[in-house]
Amino acid sequence: MTRPHAILCAIGTTLALLLLPSCGLSDARADETGKQAESDSKSQQDTKDMTTKSTLPSKRTYSKSGFDITPLSKTEIAELAKKLSPEAFRVTQNSGTEPAFCGNLVDNKKQGEYCCVVCGLPLFSSDSKFNSGTGWPSFFSPVDPAHVSEKVDGAHGMERTEINCARCTSHLGHVFEDGPAPTGLRYCLNSAALVFVEKGTKMPATSEPIKSETAYFAGGCFWGVEHIFQEAPGVITAESGYMQGAKENPTYEQVCTGDTGHAESVKVVFDPTVISFRQLAEGFFLMHDPTQFNRQGPDSGSQYRSGVYCSTPEQLAQANDLVAKLTSEKKFSRPIATQVELAKKFYPAEEYHQDYVDKTGRVCHVGNPWSQVLGAAK
Ligand SMILES: [Zn+2]
Repeated sequence: MTRPHAILCAIGTTLALLLLPSCGLSDARADETGKQAESDSKSQQDTKDMTTKSTLPSKRTYSKSGFDITPLSKTEIAELAKKLSPEAFRVTQNSGTEPAFCGNLVDNKKQGEYCCVVCGLPLFSSDSKFNSGTGWPSFFSPVDPAHVSEKVDGAHGMERTEINCARCTSHLGHVFEDGPAPTGLRYCLNSAALVFVEKGTKMPATSEPIKSETAYFAGGCFWGVEHIFQEAPGVITAESGYMQGAKENPTYEQVCTGDTGHAESVKVVFDPTVISFRQLAEGFFLMHDPTQFNRQGPDSGSQYRSGVYCSTPEQLAQANDLVAKLTSEKKFSRPIATQVELAKKFYPAEEYHQDYVDKTGRVCHVGNPWSQVLGAAK
Protein backbone atom coordinates (compact mmCIF):
# COMPACT_ATOMS: atom_id res chain seq x y z
CA MET A 1 0.00 0.00 0.00
CA THR A 2 1.42 3.33 -0.98
CA ARG A 3 -1.52 5.41 0.12
CA PRO A 4 -0.01 7.15 3.14
CA HIS A 5 2.74 8.31 0.84
CA ALA A 6 0.12 9.15 -1.72
CA ILE A 7 -1.86 11.43 0.51
CA LEU A 8 1.18 13.14 1.87
CA CYS A 9 2.34 13.75 -1.65
CA ALA A 10 -1.07 14.96 -2.72
CA ILE A 11 -1.26 17.38 0.16
CA GLY A 12 2.35 18.42 -0.14
CA THR A 13 2.02 19.11 -3.84
CA THR A 14 -0.84 21.50 -3.38
CA LEU A 15 0.74 23.27 -0.50
CA ALA A 16 3.85 23.67 -2.60
CA LEU A 17 1.75 25.32 -5.25
CA LEU A 18 0.70 27.82 -2.65
CA LEU A 19 4.28 28.49 -1.59
CA LEU A 20 3.86 25.99 1.16
CA PRO A 21 6.16 23.03 1.64
CA SER A 22 6.45 19.91 -0.44
CA CYS A 23 6.89 16.61 1.40
CA GLY A 24 8.12 14.83 -1.72
CA LEU A 25 6.43 14.89 -5.07
CA SER A 26 4.85 11.97 -6.86
CA ASP A 27 6.06 10.76 -10.23
CA ALA A 28 2.99 12.31 -11.78
CA ARG A 29 4.10 15.69 -10.62
CA ALA A 30 7.84 15.20 -11.19
CA ASP A 31 7.79 17.60 -14.13
CA GLU A 32 7.00 20.39 -11.72
CA THR A 33 9.84 19.58 -9.36
CA GLY A 34 12.30 21.88 -11.06
CA LYS A 35 9.96 24.84 -10.89
CA GLN A 36 9.47 24.16 -7.23
CA ALA A 37 13.13 23.96 -6.29
CA GLU A 38 13.87 27.66 -6.35
CA SER A 39 10.99 28.47 -4.06
CA ASP A 40 11.92 25.80 -1.52
CA SER A 41 13.86 28.05 0.79
CA LYS A 42 10.99 30.54 0.91
CA SER A 43 8.55 27.64 1.34
CA GLN A 44 10.46 26.41 4.36
CA GLN A 45 10.25 29.83 5.92
CA ASP A 46 6.53 29.98 5.18
CA THR A 47 6.10 26.52 6.68
CA LYS A 48 7.73 27.65 9.86
CA ASP A 49 5.43 30.63 9.99
CA MET A 50 2.38 28.59 9.13
CA THR A 51 2.95 25.91 11.75
CA THR A 52 3.36 28.43 14.52
CA LYS A 53 0.27 27.91 16.57
CA SER A 54 0.39 31.12 18.55
CA THR A 55 -2.32 32.71 16.42
CA LEU A 56 -4.72 29.81 16.81
CA PRO A 57 -7.62 29.94 19.23
CA SER A 58 -6.88 27.64 22.14
CA LYS A 59 -7.86 24.10 21.30
CA ARG A 60 -11.19 23.12 22.80
CA THR A 61 -11.91 19.65 24.12
CA TYR A 62 -15.19 18.02 23.19
CA SER A 63 -16.80 14.82 24.41
CA LYS A 64 -18.25 12.30 21.99
CA SER A 65 -21.72 13.28 23.19
CA GLY A 66 -21.07 16.82 21.94
CA PHE A 67 -20.24 18.81 25.06
CA ASP A 68 -17.46 21.32 25.41
CA ILE A 69 -15.43 19.84 28.28
CA THR A 70 -12.43 22.16 28.02
CA PRO A 71 -11.16 22.46 31.61
CA LEU A 72 -12.26 25.70 33.24
CA SER A 73 -9.64 28.00 34.76
CA LYS A 74 -9.30 28.43 38.52
CA THR A 75 -10.75 31.91 38.18
CA GLU A 76 -13.80 30.64 36.28
CA ILE A 77 -14.35 27.88 38.85
CA ALA A 78 -14.05 30.33 41.74
CA GLU A 79 -16.64 32.57 40.11
CA LEU A 80 -19.07 29.67 39.61
CA ALA A 81 -18.50 28.43 43.16
CA LYS A 82 -19.78 31.71 44.60
CA LYS A 83 -23.37 30.61 43.93
CA LEU A 84 -23.03 27.35 45.86
CA SER A 85 -24.68 26.56 49.18
CA PRO A 86 -22.19 26.08 52.03
CA GLU A 87 -22.73 22.31 51.86
CA ALA A 88 -22.26 22.15 48.07
CA PHE A 89 -19.13 24.28 48.41
CA ARG A 90 -17.72 22.03 51.14
CA VAL A 91 -18.36 18.86 49.10
CA THR A 92 -17.29 20.05 45.65
CA GLN A 93 -14.45 22.45 46.45
CA ASN A 94 -13.01 20.86 49.58
CA SER A 95 -13.60 17.16 48.82
CA GLY A 96 -16.24 16.84 51.51
CA THR A 97 -18.61 13.91 52.04
CA GLU A 98 -22.23 14.32 53.10
CA PRO A 99 -23.60 11.99 55.78
CA ALA A 100 -25.18 8.78 54.48
CA PHE A 101 -28.95 8.79 53.88
CA CYS A 102 -29.04 12.59 54.19
CA GLY A 103 -28.71 13.71 50.58
CA ASN A 104 -31.86 14.75 48.72
CA LEU A 105 -31.18 12.53 45.69
CA VAL A 106 -30.58 9.17 47.39
CA ASP A 107 -34.14 7.99 46.86
CA ASN A 108 -34.91 10.00 43.74
CA LYS A 109 -36.48 7.60 41.23
CA LYS A 110 -37.56 10.13 38.61
CA GLN A 111 -36.30 9.99 35.04
CA GLY A 112 -33.75 12.63 34.15
CA GLU A 113 -30.16 13.80 34.17
CA TYR A 114 -27.84 14.50 37.08
CA CYS A 115 -25.66 17.51 36.28
CA CYS A 116 -22.65 19.10 37.99
CA VAL A 117 -23.86 21.61 40.59
CA VAL A 118 -20.97 23.92 39.72
CA CYS A 119 -20.68 23.96 35.91
CA GLY A 120 -23.84 22.17 34.75
CA LEU A 121 -22.16 19.37 32.80
CA PRO A 122 -24.42 16.29 32.62
CA LEU A 123 -22.68 13.54 34.59
CA PHE A 124 -25.12 10.70 35.27
CA SER A 125 -28.52 9.58 34.09
CA SER A 126 -31.43 7.94 35.86
CA ASP A 127 -30.88 5.08 33.39
CA SER A 128 -27.81 3.94 35.33
CA LYS A 129 -29.01 4.75 38.87
CA PHE A 130 -29.49 1.86 41.26
CA ASN A 131 -30.21 1.35 44.92
CA SER A 132 -26.89 0.41 46.49
CA GLY A 133 -28.18 0.57 50.06
CA THR A 134 -25.18 2.70 51.02
CA GLY A 135 -27.11 5.91 51.61
CA TRP A 136 -25.54 7.78 48.71
CA PRO A 137 -26.86 8.14 45.15
CA SER A 138 -25.26 5.35 43.13
CA PHE A 139 -24.81 4.79 39.39
CA PHE A 140 -23.14 2.07 37.35
CA SER A 141 -21.83 4.41 34.64
CA PRO A 142 -21.54 8.10 33.73
CA VAL A 143 -23.50 9.52 30.78
CA ASP A 144 -20.21 9.97 28.94
CA PRO A 145 -16.91 8.55 30.25
CA ALA A 146 -15.19 11.81 29.26
CA HIS A 147 -17.39 13.83 31.63
CA VAL A 148 -16.03 12.23 34.80
CA SER A 149 -12.32 12.14 35.61
CA GLU A 150 -10.67 9.89 38.16
CA LYS A 151 -7.71 10.16 40.48
CA VAL A 152 -6.25 8.18 43.34
CA ASP A 153 -7.37 9.38 46.75
CA GLY A 154 -5.14 8.26 49.62
CA ALA A 155 -6.95 10.16 52.38
CA HIS A 156 -8.09 8.52 55.62
CA GLY A 157 -5.55 5.71 55.33
CA MET A 158 -7.38 4.13 52.37
CA GLU A 159 -6.62 4.05 48.70
CA ARG A 160 -9.79 4.96 46.82
CA THR A 161 -10.57 6.34 43.40
CA GLU A 162 -11.95 9.83 43.59
CA ILE A 163 -14.24 11.07 40.83
CA ASN A 164 -14.39 14.65 39.64
CA CYS A 165 -16.25 16.68 37.07
CA ALA A 166 -13.97 16.70 34.01
CA ARG A 167 -14.85 20.30 33.17
CA CYS A 168 -14.64 22.07 36.54
CA THR A 169 -12.77 19.49 38.70
CA SER A 170 -15.53 19.48 41.34
CA HIS A 171 -15.26 16.64 43.80
CA LEU A 172 -18.20 14.30 43.16
CA GLY A 173 -17.52 11.19 45.23
CA HIS A 174 -15.71 7.90 44.58
CA VAL A 175 -15.99 4.88 42.28
CA PHE A 176 -15.75 1.31 43.54
CA GLU A 177 -15.53 -2.05 41.79
CA ASP A 178 -18.51 -3.62 43.52
CA GLY A 179 -21.34 -2.38 41.31
CA PRO A 180 -23.92 -4.26 39.28
CA ALA A 181 -23.84 -5.32 35.63
CA PRO A 182 -23.09 -4.27 33.02
CA THR A 183 -20.04 -2.38 34.30
CA GLY A 184 -19.49 -3.86 37.75
CA LEU A 185 -18.79 -0.32 38.95
CA ARG A 186 -20.45 1.73 41.66
CA TYR A 187 -20.15 5.48 41.27
CA CYS A 188 -20.93 6.75 44.76
CA LEU A 189 -22.07 10.38 44.62
CA ASN A 190 -22.80 13.20 46.98
CA SER A 191 -26.25 14.66 46.33
CA ALA A 192 -24.81 18.10 47.05
CA ALA A 193 -22.51 17.80 44.02
CA LEU A 194 -25.44 17.27 41.68
CA VAL A 195 -28.41 19.10 40.22
CA PHE A 196 -31.22 16.88 38.99
CA VAL A 197 -33.03 17.95 35.81
CA GLU A 198 -36.20 15.93 35.32
CA LYS A 199 -36.94 14.53 31.88
CA GLY A 200 -39.24 16.84 29.95
CA THR A 201 -38.06 20.00 31.67
CA LYS A 202 -35.75 22.42 29.93
CA MET A 203 -32.06 21.84 30.54
CA PRO A 204 -30.06 24.89 31.67
CA ALA A 205 -27.86 26.32 28.91
CA THR A 206 -24.71 25.06 30.65
CA SER A 207 -26.12 21.52 30.53
CA GLU A 208 -26.78 21.55 26.79
CA PRO A 209 -24.42 20.14 24.16
CA ILE A 210 -22.93 22.70 21.85
CA LYS A 211 -24.90 23.55 18.72
CA SER A 212 -22.65 21.82 16.22
CA GLU A 213 -22.76 21.92 12.44
CA THR A 214 -21.66 19.32 9.92
CA ALA A 215 -19.87 19.58 6.58
CA TYR A 216 -18.21 17.06 4.28
CA PHE A 217 -14.98 17.32 2.33
CA ALA A 218 -13.40 14.99 -0.23
CA GLY A 219 -9.74 15.61 -1.02
CA GLY A 220 -8.32 12.29 -2.18
CA CYS A 221 -7.37 9.54 0.26
CA PHE A 222 -9.32 10.29 3.42
CA TRP A 223 -6.62 9.22 5.91
CA GLY A 224 -4.63 12.43 5.80
CA VAL A 225 -7.59 14.73 5.15
CA GLU A 226 -9.35 13.37 8.24
CA HIS A 227 -6.20 13.89 10.32
CA ILE A 228 -5.76 17.50 9.26
CA PHE A 229 -9.39 18.34 9.98
CA GLN A 230 -9.03 16.76 13.41
CA GLU A 231 -6.21 19.22 14.06
CA ALA A 232 -8.45 22.23 13.54
CA PRO A 233 -9.62 24.16 16.60
CA GLY A 234 -13.38 23.85 16.87
CA VAL A 235 -13.59 20.49 15.13
CA ILE A 236 -15.42 18.04 17.36
CA THR A 237 -15.08 14.92 15.22
CA ALA A 238 -13.73 14.07 11.78
CA GLU A 239 -14.77 10.72 10.34
CA SER A 240 -13.76 8.97 7.13
CA GLY A 241 -16.42 7.60 4.82
CA TYR A 242 -17.99 7.42 1.38
CA MET A 243 -20.65 9.62 -0.18
CA GLN A 244 -22.23 11.11 -3.30
CA GLY A 245 -22.48 7.69 -4.94
CA ALA A 246 -25.36 5.42 -5.86
CA LYS A 247 -24.74 2.21 -3.93
CA GLU A 248 -26.05 1.84 -0.39
CA ASN A 249 -23.65 0.77 2.34
CA PRO A 250 -20.62 0.51 0.05
CA THR A 251 -17.47 -1.26 1.23
CA TYR A 252 -13.97 0.06 0.72
CA GLU A 253 -13.28 -2.58 -1.92
CA GLN A 254 -16.41 -1.59 -3.84
CA VAL A 255 -15.56 2.12 -3.68
CA CYS A 256 -12.00 1.33 -4.82
CA THR A 257 -13.31 0.00 -8.12
CA GLY A 258 -14.48 3.51 -8.94
CA ASP A 259 -17.83 2.07 -10.07
CA THR A 260 -20.00 3.07 -7.11
CA GLY A 261 -19.79 6.82 -7.72
CA HIS A 262 -18.72 7.53 -4.16
CA ALA A 263 -15.93 9.87 -3.16
CA GLU A 264 -13.67 9.14 -0.21
CA SER A 265 -14.91 11.88 2.10
CA VAL A 266 -14.51 13.22 5.61
CA LYS A 267 -17.49 14.14 7.77
CA VAL A 268 -16.53 17.13 9.89
CA VAL A 269 -18.66 18.04 12.92
CA PHE A 270 -17.63 21.42 14.23
CA ASP A 271 -18.38 24.18 16.73
CA PRO A 272 -19.34 27.21 14.63
CA THR A 273 -18.57 29.55 17.52
CA VAL A 274 -14.89 28.56 17.19
CA ILE A 275 -14.47 27.88 13.47
CA SER A 276 -16.85 28.69 10.64
CA PHE A 277 -17.75 26.60 7.61
CA ARG A 278 -16.01 29.20 5.47
CA GLN A 279 -12.78 28.80 7.44
CA LEU A 280 -12.97 25.02 7.20
CA ALA A 281 -13.44 25.32 3.45
CA GLU A 282 -10.50 27.73 3.18
CA GLY A 283 -8.33 25.21 5.01
CA PHE A 284 -9.60 22.47 2.72
CA PHE A 285 -8.45 24.33 -0.39
CA LEU A 286 -5.01 24.71 1.19
CA MET A 287 -4.62 21.07 2.17
CA HIS A 288 -5.14 19.43 -1.22
CA ASP A 289 -4.88 20.25 -4.91
CA PRO A 290 -8.38 21.23 -6.07
CA THR A 291 -7.24 21.51 -9.68
CA GLN A 292 -6.72 17.77 -10.12
CA PHE A 293 -9.70 16.08 -11.75
CA ASN A 294 -10.65 12.66 -10.37
CA ARG A 295 -7.31 12.19 -8.67
CA GLN A 296 -5.00 13.42 -5.96
CA GLY A 297 -1.34 12.88 -6.75
CA PRO A 298 -0.78 9.21 -7.55
CA ASP A 299 -4.25 8.17 -6.34
CA SER A 300 -6.35 8.08 -9.48
CA GLY A 301 -10.09 7.48 -9.95
CA SER A 302 -13.38 9.26 -9.34
CA GLN A 303 -13.32 8.09 -5.70
CA TYR A 304 -10.37 10.48 -5.20
CA ARG A 305 -12.13 13.51 -6.65
CA SER A 306 -12.18 16.83 -4.89
CA GLY A 307 -15.52 17.79 -3.37
CA VAL A 308 -17.25 20.03 -0.87
CA TYR A 309 -20.55 18.47 0.16
CA CYS A 310 -22.78 20.89 1.99
CA SER A 311 -25.38 20.31 4.71
CA THR A 312 -27.30 23.51 4.04
CA PRO A 313 -28.01 25.93 1.19
CA GLU A 314 -26.02 28.52 3.19
CA GLN A 315 -22.95 26.30 3.13
CA LEU A 316 -23.48 25.73 -0.58
CA ALA A 317 -23.55 29.47 -1.23
CA GLN A 318 -20.42 29.96 0.88
CA ALA A 319 -18.54 27.19 -0.91
CA ASN A 320 -19.49 28.50 -4.37
CA ASP A 321 -18.50 32.00 -3.32
CA LEU A 322 -15.12 30.77 -2.10
CA VAL A 323 -14.43 28.91 -5.34
CA ALA A 324 -15.33 32.05 -7.30
CA LYS A 325 -13.04 34.14 -5.11
CA LEU A 326 -10.09 31.74 -5.40
CA THR A 327 -10.65 31.66 -9.17
CA SER A 328 -10.85 35.42 -9.58
CA GLU A 329 -7.76 35.89 -7.44
CA LYS A 330 -5.94 33.31 -9.60
CA LYS A 331 -4.82 31.33 -6.56
CA PHE A 332 -4.29 28.30 -8.77
CA SER A 333 -2.65 28.06 -12.16
CA ARG A 334 -5.35 25.72 -13.43
CA PRO A 335 -9.15 25.71 -13.06
CA ILE A 336 -10.60 24.42 -9.80
CA ALA A 337 -12.12 20.97 -10.38
CA THR A 338 -13.81 20.69 -6.98
CA GLN A 339 -17.35 19.35 -7.02
CA VAL A 340 -19.58 21.61 -4.89
CA GLU A 341 -23.04 20.27 -4.13
CA LEU A 342 -25.47 19.41 -1.36
CA ALA A 343 -24.50 16.35 0.64
CA LYS A 344 -26.15 13.03 -0.01
CA LYS A 345 -25.99 10.15 2.46
CA PHE A 346 -22.65 9.66 4.19
CA TYR A 347 -21.55 6.08 4.86
CA PRO A 348 -18.83 5.77 7.53
CA ALA A 349 -15.80 3.82 6.36
CA GLU A 350 -14.68 0.61 8.02
CA GLU A 351 -13.20 1.03 11.50
CA TYR A 352 -9.62 0.41 10.37
CA HIS A 353 -9.80 3.54 8.22
CA GLN A 354 -10.79 5.77 11.14
CA ASP A 355 -8.00 7.74 12.85
CA TYR A 356 -5.58 5.96 10.51
CA VAL A 357 -2.79 8.48 10.89
CA ASP A 358 -3.06 8.40 14.69
CA LYS A 359 -3.26 4.61 14.80
CA THR A 360 -0.28 4.00 12.56
CA GLY A 361 1.89 6.75 13.98
CA ARG A 362 2.64 7.99 10.51
CA VAL A 363 3.49 11.62 10.58
CA CYS A 364 2.17 14.04 8.03
CA HIS A 365 5.15 16.17 7.14
CA VAL A 366 3.21 19.06 5.75
CA GLY A 367 2.19 21.98 7.87
CA ASN A 368 -1.49 22.21 8.63
CA PRO A 369 -3.40 25.22 7.30
CA TRP A 370 -5.24 26.30 10.42
CA SER A 371 -2.84 28.98 11.64
CA GLN A 372 -2.96 30.54 8.20
CA VAL A 373 -6.74 30.35 7.95
CA LEU A 374 -7.61 31.41 11.47
CA GLY A 375 -4.79 33.86 11.82
CA ALA A 376 -5.91 35.69 8.68
CA ALA A 377 -9.45 35.86 9.97
CA LYS A 378 -8.47 37.95 12.96
ZN1 LIG B 1 -18.50 20.67 36.67
